[in-house]
Amino acid sequence: MKKHNYSAGPCILPQEVFEKSAQAILNFNNSGLSLLEISHRSKDFVAVMDEARAIVLELLGLEGKGYQALFLAGGASLEFLMVPYNLLKEGGKAAYLDTGTWAAAAIKEAQSFGNTTIVASSKEENYNHIPKGYTVPADADYFHCTSNNTIFGTQMKEFPSLDMPIVCDMSSDIFSRQLDFSKFDIIYAGAQKNMGPAGTTLVVIKEEVLGKNGRNIPSMLDYAKHIKAESMYNTPPVFPIYASLLTLQWLKNLGGIAAIEKINNAKAALLYAEIDRNPLFKGAAAVEDRSNMNATFLLNDEVHAATFDAMWKAAGISGLPGHRSVGGYRASMYNALPLESVQVLVDVMKELEKSIQIPALSN
Ligand SMILES: *Cc1c(COP(=O)(O)O)cnc(C)c1O
Repeated sequence: MKKHNYSAGPCILPQEVFEKSAQAILNFNNSGLSLLEISHRSKDFVAVMDEARAIVLELLGLEGKGYQALFLAGGASLEFLMVPYNLLKEGGKAAYLDTGTWAAAAIKEAQSFGNTTIVASSKEENYNHIPKGYTVPADADYFHCTSNNTIFGTQMKEFPSLDMPIVCDMSSDIFSRQLDFSKFDIIYAGAQKNMGPAGTTLVVIKEEVLGKNGRNIPSMLDYAKHIKAESMYNTPPVFPIYASLLTLQWLKNLGGIAAIEKINNAKAALLYAEIDRNPLFKGAAAVEDRSNMNATFLLNDEVHAATFDAMWKAAGISGLPGHRSVGGYRASMYNALPLESVQVLVDVMKELEKSIQIPALSN
């Protein structure tokens, strides 16, 4: 039986993506060949790459606006380095918002590369909220933020308007909600949180921000080279790109980001309402910054942990334990997780409450 998969990443994908991509491994486009044994320069695979790059811009509303989509390798973690390589000037300065473990990892790479300012941080409060009211120095070469903090369960609801390139790590909430994506100059996302299998990273770039920092950039780290090569500078990770294309086609058929956002809002509302109602549980993140993708919550009394864990496992739920830096539970409700799976979790939380009610004293 298919589990209710709350894994934070790699994570649940639409069932039809698993089926179609499995088929493509056996016999791609009825060619008598596997997707895995053909040249990435073949007509069939070039068509996959072209369509994948185009559907990204279409879904994000960025067609004809000077953006390019790339499918690279190295994970979101390599983008932590590629961004300063491509945008930070010699003697320049980068500005970062520190909202969690991944933001901090991006900052570490930028610091190893050049002058980096942290405009605000919620680290002292174990990243339980998104800092607000910060100012970004006007002379920074770019501003970097993380739209959704996968580990702590917070999500940026507002983004600053600035006269400098804005870079955003959207690994764990890309394609989940409507945003004015044209506010951003570089968006990147590891595929494995909301788009596809691990192995490729989507990078969406406003081309005009490139080529301005005067650096000699190593080829594999140079966005301009990847754009020029139409995302085939070297052999691309063909399978994760194909499976990502299938996921994006699934999303488009569903009605695009506007349609999935409604479902995602309904899932998050259902779960957070139960976290707030049920006296056994409490949310881990500040209410106004709660993530619609990763809901972090805790038992008020750890004594119920063994019972709760046995109950959700028996209900067919998988991947619920929280990250060690928060503890408790994390329900990752990515695009492909159905509302019914959230209902199953909510029902288990209610049952736990019933099961441990202290019997009323008679007489
Ligand atoms: C998972 C994650 C990363 C790291 O992604 P890799 O592809 O493993 O390098 C970076 N940023 C965010 C927000 C993430 O959730």
